[in-house]
Formats: sequence, C-alpha cells, structure tokens
Amino acid sequence: MDATDHALASAATVRLKTLYVAPPWCRLKRILFSHHPAIAVRHVSCDTGLRRMKSLLIPSLLATGLILSPAFAHAGWDTTKKIADREHVALDEVAAAFDMKRAAARKDVLEIAYTGEAHQLIVKITTREAIIDGVRHWLSFPVQSVSGEPFVAEIDIDTALRPAFDPLSVKLPGPVRTVVFDPGHGGHDKGCRSPYGYEKDYTLDVVNRTRRILEKRKVKCVQSRLSDFFATLSERPAMTKNYEDPIFVSIHFNSADWRPSANGIEIYAIPPQGCPTTGKKPDLVLDRRDSEGADVEPASYALANAILPTLLGKMGSFDRGVKRARYAVLRHCEVPSVLIECGFLTNPVEAKKVDTPEWREKFAESLADGIEAYIALAGSQKAPPGLSDFDRPATDAFVTEM
Ligand SMILES: [Zn+2]
Repeated sequence: MDATDHALASAATVRLKTLYVAPPWCRLKRILFSHHPAIAVRHVSCDTGLRRMKSLLIPSLLATGLILSPAFAHAGWDTTKKIADREHVALDEVAAAFDMKRAAARKDVLEIAYTGEAHQLIVKITTREAIIDGVRHWLSFPVQSVSGEPFVAEIDIDTALRPAFDPLSVKLPGPVRTVVFDPGHGGHDKGCRSPYGYEKDYTLDVVNRTRRILEKRKVKCVQSRLSDFFATLSERPAMTKNYEDPIFVSIHFNSADWRPSANGIEIYAIPPQGCPTTGKKPDLVLDRRDSEGADVEPASYALANAILPTLLGKMGSFDRGVKRARYAVLRHCEVPSVLIECGFLTNPVEAKKVDTPEWREKFAESLADGIEAYIALAGSQKAPPGLSDFDRPATDAFVTEM
C-alpha cells in the first residue's frame, strides 16, 4: 500500500463507521456488565436482552459520556493484530461478545466452531467462508491464524458478523413502500438455458408470481419489465427513482456448463466499500470505485440476510450463501438492493424442478415471505426469521470458494 492507498483505506473505514450504527451493542454489553454486578448476563442474548435494557441504561451512559467517548467508540477490542495492513481481532473475543464459546474440535483442524444460546459461528482458517447461524456467508477477507489462534478482519466484524447476528443494529433507510422487481434478461438477451427453457422466461414468471402474492398482502410492487423485452442494466435500477421508499430485487437463474453438479441458491449484495467481490482477489481500484449502491450497503446486506434463510428453509435448496458483487444493477441502485440466483439451469435435477409451475410458485411464496421479513425489519424493527425457524438442517460443510 502506498500513501494514497492508506488515505483511501482510512476514508473507507470512516465512511463505514458512519454507515453502520455507531454503538457496538455487544461490546457495550461486555463492558457494562463487567462493571454492573446487579445485571445477570449469562443468559441474555445480544439482540434481546440488551434491547430490553437500552431504555434504562442509555440515559445514565449519556450522563457519564461513555457512549459519546471517541476512545470508547474506537478502542473496542482487546486482542488485535495488524495482518496485511488490516486490523484483525481475536475471534474468541468476538465470539464472546456475542455470547458464544468454542465448541468441540471439528474433524478438519482448520475449522473452528463457536456456539451459544442464540448464535452459532463456524469459520475455516485461510478462507473467507463463514457459517453464521447455520447460513453460509462470505467474508471480505480470510480468517487468519496467529500462533494457532483465529483472527478475523475488523471490517468483517462490522460489515458481516454483527449485522448478521444482530439485524436490529443495522441503520436502515426506513419503512418500505414499494418493491421494484427486476426479472433478469429479456428480449434478445435470453440469459442461460436448460433443455426446457430460457432464464429470461423463468425470471419473469417468478417475479409475476411473487408480485401477485405480495399484492394480495397489500404490498405495492412494480417491475422493470412486464413482458419479453430488453431493459438496459442502467435503466433497471433507475426505475427505483420513480417510487417512494423502494427496495430493488433482481431475479436470475445460474449456469455452470463446466460443472453440471453445481446447484442451489445464492444471494448478492454490494460489497462494503474497499472490500473485494466474493471469490475475487482484492482490487485496489475497482473495490474503491464510488457507486450509488455503496451508501446503502448495510441495508442491502440486511435485505439479503432477511431473504436467504426463508428461501433455504422453505425450498430446501443447497445453500451457496450471501455473496458480494458489484453487479451493475446493484452498483447503480441508491436503495437497498439484492440479486438472487434462484437455481442452476445447467444442473439436470434442478433445471427439471425449475421448469415446473409448482416449484416456481413455492419459490415465489418463499421469496414473498423473505421480502416481508425485511419490510417488518425496516418498518417495525422486527428481527427476521433465522434458519432455525424452519425445519431444515443448518449448513455445516464448507465448500471451496465459488
Ligand atoms: Zn442472469
């Protein structure tokens, strides 16, 4: 890194701190409770217990200046280490802040698991893969080993772990009044194909079905295309400007001709500013490019986290995780936005399922539920359901970066 890189990196960090809610509640809880013998913490989860006590504690904290102290806001973690010019924190300490302890050793010595009453976390040293509360996520930077102990990049705590464990800590733009659906491809752009049909037709069908379901539930929905025509990648997100308090949901199907076994659902949000795309090496220029989507990155990540557990829980599809990419439709979107790859048209089994109206209707219902979970989060601070709310086993096996 040269001086310009350092300046850009620190500007990105400052920007992140303003995007995410400032008071790190779990950290605050740790400090508070260690000085407050009257409060029993052992069985109070970050998301519920502290919220109940916030009203009681905040006035006295403000009086002591604790919340506003810059030292408090930035000191935070005790066991830190600079690795590759980036601040890292001992994962044991991070896990403890979310009431988790190390679980039994796993077969693969690189995998480290933590468990608590409310949360679980499994990471694999040297990779960016993290299973958070049973759902696969992709961190921006690999978990590192320092003398055999796992360390996680601080930026991943702020932009992945905390918002996933505690969705109520994320600063959101406010209530949602319109869902702008974007059925991928259209017209001359057919997208990928299976032996049974084209991506452009499946995306439009899934959107039509989801829209019908949400409209019955009195949710206003619009679409970037209503029929088989082509809209450009800049026209699609630009549509959101015509509506009040929208979110943007782009629907696609996946393909991997070179690996027909590839299957499952993945959901994309824009990466945090300065962080790489999932599966790609950091790019000093592209990762820092300014975009409209960067300002709503935390909300887009919250939207992805609200939708994926419901889709996985109801569809039973393979979990490919919450991923990050600067796709044009996400980059140019000034409102919370995600892109969902609903399944693989190059997988013989999945392609056959996708071709049935029953599968697409079930997908549409699950997607409608996931979107409503975000609407409830943004409108009334109701935490979305997690994977444990569905009768589906948690993701447990790591995959290679994909
Ligand atoms: Zn596509």
